[in-house]
Amino acid sequence: MKNQEAIAYFSMEIGLDPEMPTYSGGLGILAGDTIRSAADLRVPMVVVTLLHRKGYFFQKLDNTGWQTEEPVEWSVDDFLTELPERISLSIESRTVALRAWKYDVVGFTGFVVPVYFLDVDLEENSEWDRTLTHYLYGGDLHYRLCQEAILGIGGVRMLRALGYKHIKRFHMNEGHSSLLTLELIDEYMNKKKLDSITEEAIEYVRKKCVFTTHTPVPAGHDKFPMDLVKQVLGGHEAFEIQGLCIHEGMLNMTYLALSLSHYINGVAKKHQEVSSLMFADYKIDSITNGVNVSTWTSKPFHHLFDKYIPGWEEDNFNLRYALNIPNAEIWQAHYQAKKQLFAYVNREANIGMDIDTLTIGFARRSATYKRADLIFENIERLKKIPSEVGMIQIIFAGKAHPQDQDGKELIKRIFQAKDFLKKDIKIVYLENYDMELGKLITSGVDIWLNNPVPPREASGTSGMKAALNGIPSLSILDGWWSEGCIEGVTGWAIGEMPRGSEDNENRTQDANSLYDKLEQIIVPMFYNDRQQFINIMRHAIALNGSFFNTQRMMLQYVLKAYFI
Ligand SMILES: *Cc1c(COP(=O)(O)O)cnc(C)c1O
Repeated sequence: MKNQEAIAYFSMEIGLDPEMPTYSGGLGILAGDTIRSAADLRVPMVVVTLLHRKGYFFQKLDNTGWQTEEPVEWSVDDFLTELPERISLSIESRTVALRAWKYDVVGFTGFVVPVYFLDVDLEENSEWDRTLTHYLYGGDLHYRLCQEAILGIGGVRMLRALGYKHIKRFHMNEGHSSLLTLELIDEYMNKKKLDSITEEAIEYVRKKCVFTTHTPVPAGHDKFPMDLVKQVLGGHEAFEIQGLCIHEGMLNMTYLALSLSHYINGVAKKHQEVSSLMFADYKIDSITNGVNVSTWTSKPFHHLFDKYIPGWEEDNFNLRYALNIPNAEIWQAHYQAKKQLFAYVNREANIGMDIDTLTIGFARRSATYKRADLIFENIERLKKIPSEVGMIQIIFAGKAHPQDQDGKELIKRIFQAKDFLKKDIKIVYLENYDMELGKLITSGVDIWLNNPVPPREASGTSGMKAALNGIPSLSILDGWWSEGCIEGVTGWAIGEMPRGSEDNENRTQDANSLYDKLEQIIVPMFYNDRQQFINIMRHAIALNGSFFNTQRMMLQYVLKAYFI
């Protein structure tokens, strides 16, 4: 691949293996799924990320729901192979040496996409510098900027040292890696012996770069004060160019990537609209996210698809033919997957959840805008559902960012509601949500719930995992669900389609809509019209599983961004 024109994919986090804690949430999971699908499709790709030796964290919850964090110890050389190449970059005028470790992602035809994990934990570096690649999203702004310099600038240099001379496109998966554009400018100027940045240099870099923006939440867009930037990176002529990367007096990683990419996309149609309002000067397209079907389909559905839809893994469009799978067999596969989840839940929590009871799943990062506690908004109304309509159970999971006090309080509130409802509704909050638990939950509940404040959910992917496993969503019409929801066919909507790029926070209204759907439609259908419920499960697979996958997504990147 080194002599071929490859796509270099840069991401701060990647979820490749449940045992490698090098991801925190949706962004990393998406990166992993993207890479697996690239390997399956034989897209020539090389990947750059950081080696998070201490990982994201291991979550502990006490009996009030208060979260504490423990570093995750993992044995790097059990998974990765160290490479002999060394490069260096300057951080605060110190020379910091960098090595890389390799992990091969192998597609089902044997095609390999190499992933390079950058590592500064080397003897020749100072004590402090050695920690710079340890923690994913740890530390302060200063630590973060140093990490982004390593990823962007160090990443390009490492690829060159590894022999990748012909990179066709650099794909920035979120703005964390956008300093790579400055390194590309410098490379061009050196090659052309320029002493200042020309229009051609900018154009050259722009043609090389692709940028995917992932969130309309302002805190998700990195910006750094200029004195910090000067201290860490030194000066750069690019900082003097009007409107290139300085926004409101700060180095803004999103603007840097926007200015220097020829193709920019949001991660769902709705997110494209919102991003176009946020960044009105840039042309933004959309490629809706997906999930890797082989990774997220439970064993029972794997067998069922093998039986009825030969070739579904090689060509995911075939999932459309799930329309022909008989109801009884869909239910049987679902029941098996549910049994696996319940074995785990009852062993972990000793709660005696009942497999025949309608079970709602909610698992995602505990950030307040995701409103994990919305279902408890009118707790008296919820409390009556079991006696007046039918039994329900709820399974929660999710980590709060270590510095997000509000996110931690949110988990505590769920624990309080859980205690309050103890006699009526069984509720469990599972610790340490990760890829493995994610797969178990998204394939083992009956309904997948998602209710963020719109329009903050750029895409969301856990509902796509559920759909593949025949689990319908009950969700706010935001992110992917504004495309995936056909009311009463693939699942159900909470509330109305939101408008504009401002928050549409209608807590009471949204909660009432959620209760209405449960009381009037979902709970009665689950118990009294099981065949209709299974029809919806089937359409979740056929209409949504066949489309919201990373194979279709990767084909769109090839079509619109990588090779044109
Ligand atoms: C799929 C997944 C996510 C992302 O889910 P969203 O619906 O985008 O919030 C986060 N964490 C884990 C462990 C996952 O498996």
